Amino acid sequence: MSSFFRADLHCHTTASDGSETPEELVRHAAEIGLQGLSITDHDTVDAYSTAIPVAKILKFPLLTGVEFSTVFEKEAVHVLAYGFALTDPTISELVISQKKRREERNKKILSNLKKLGIEISEEELGTELNHTIGRPHIAMAMMKKGVIRSLREGFDRYLGEGKAAYDPGVRMDVQTALSQIKKAKAIAVLAHPHLVTRKKALRALFEMPFDGLECYYACMKKEAVQPFVDRAAVKGWIATGGSDYHGKIKPQIVLGASWVGEETFRKLYDHYQRNETQS
Ligand code: AMP
Ligand code: ZN
Ligand code: FE
Ligand code: FE
Repeated sequence: MSSFFRADLHCHTTASDGSETPEELVRHAAEIGLQGLSITDHDTVDAYSTAIPVAKILKFPLLTGVEFSTVFEKEAVHVLAYGFALTDPTISELVISQKKRREERNKKILSNLKKLGIEISEEELGTELNHTIGRPHIAMAMMKKGVIRSLREGFDRYLGEGKAAYDPGVRMDVQTALSQIKKAKAIAVLAHPHLVTRKKALRALFEMPFDGLECYYACMKKEAVQPFVDRAAVKGWIATGGSDYHGKIKPQIVLGASWVGEETFRKLYDHYQRNETQS
């Protein structure tokens, strides 16, 4: 087994709030010597329609993935799903319902901004059919108008949790996400557990039927990683990892900043191939 094997299991494209197109991202991953990748856009699998043909040409192992926005006791929780067949009807339903939830929430945020004298139309956020529109798109539209100078300022002043124009919307609860992911025969992973702010919530999440824990994450120190690796081992969960690459939107994070080795990637990739052949 090669010790140089690296697969990044968490990154975003222009199908959500990343700056590289799916095609660019797959090429980028191959160029820097990654040996596997999963694209985990927020609440959409749209990237795969253009990513898969490129991955085939380059013979680059691309694992299906998606990052669902959910809630647990008012706390935002991101759930990664891996290895589903792209034609899976449950995943398609989830993506559609998440899109509706986001549209409603975005309307509320735009209306809050309007009350603050900042007028942004839905059209200004982008109109690509199956792409996910999130707060970064709202922040970018605000930058274009000269209302703010950086994404950071947008989140700090208006869009971050509890800020002037924030609205959480009606989010899917984490338990529903888990049962639907199981129904789709996908692998459910709790994303960036270190970002769950309340210890009590994290303890409750550890009792839920996840299959994996995202232990390795961009810019995390070794000491911070170990408790999660231990937790995964105790639970019999897969320890996964990825950079959460967003391209220019989060320039401090490079593709491949966190990764998994060959054994973990194989396990997920084999699961994916079984689902694809059965679909
Ligand atoms: P949404 O999915 O619409 O709720 O937006 C959340 C996304 O916004 C996250 O996944 C990040 O990509 C991005 N984000 C969150 N906080 C910040 C921040 N302070 N600065 C820039 N981007 C952020
Ligand atoms: Zn994002
Ligand atoms: Fe996330
Ligand atoms: Fe992410």
